[in-house]
Amino acid sequence: MLTGKVALVTGASRGIGCAIAKKLASMGALVIVNYNGSATKETVAGEICKEGGSAVTYGCDVSDEAAATAMIAAITKDYGGIDILVNNAGITRDNLMLRMTDAEFDAVLATNLKGAFHTMRAAAKTMLKKRYGRIINIASVSGITGNAGQANYAAAKAGMIGMTKSAARELAGRGITVNAVAPGFIETDMTRKLPEEIREGACKQIPLGRFGQPEDVAKAVAFLAAEGSYLTGQVLAVDGGMVM
Ligand code: NDP
Repeated sequence: MLTGKVALVTGASRGIGCAIAKKLASMGALVIVNYNGSATKETVAGEICKEGGSAVTYGCDVSDEAAATAMIAAITKDYGGIDILVNNAGITRDNLMLRMTDAEFDAVLATNLKGAFHTMRAAAKTMLKKRYGRIINIASVSGITGNAGQANYAAAKAGMIGMTKSAARELAGRGITVNAVAPGFIETDMTRKLPEEIREGACKQIPLGRFGQPEDVAKAVAFLAAEGSYLTGQVLAVDGGMVM
């Protein structure tokens, strides 16, 4: 159980982040729901509280260094620190590499990679004081295998895996574990916008024969958060067997 733990989940207003926030709250954590700008931003924390859990909402664009650092400082002031950090905020700007613009490349790197760096660096400082922490970075199988049309996204996710392992080595001596979860195709807004032929082609590559649900990823995150005391620097693929 996670009673008494404070968990920050970035990008938790919908999709995988929402499922992670609800799962951690159901295990007793006080969950900080972060979002960027969606209209439904207050809904997730409200739903958690209605179900008897504890959650509050802190909006900020994690790619903005000052805003991300200020958010961690505010959470630390209000709740005494962060025990569990889940870096889930992410975007796609898919395009074939020859057509990809610098703006598309930079936007994905700024949110998916640098955003996670901003929150990890700030949260690790509070975790070092407690000599306890669980950092879980939501990467992607694209960062392991690469993916046509996703040079920007795969670079960010591969970078996140390297960053995870580096931070795991730096922080292990202080009781802080750092792991990555690499989802395959999961049913969310991000994959619903894929053309039908791509979805069908993807299903053929998945030994379990179907897309995963956000809750499948949430269960892996919950395991690392609650039971992963001797696990660090790992990449756990939640992908129906796609990249085995
Ligand atoms: P969604 O598009 O459904 O949700 C993305 C979330 O990230 C939203 O809550 C959004 O907030 C938030 N977000 C986006 N940019 C920022 C930002 N700059 N600062 C703070 N929050 C931000 O995505 P998914 O749930 O599908 O994906 C979640 C994570 O899982 C991502 O990192 C993604 O790369 C990864 N992933 C997803 C896979 C899939 O198949 N769906 C596969 C592999 C990895 P807002 O609502 O305010 O816009």
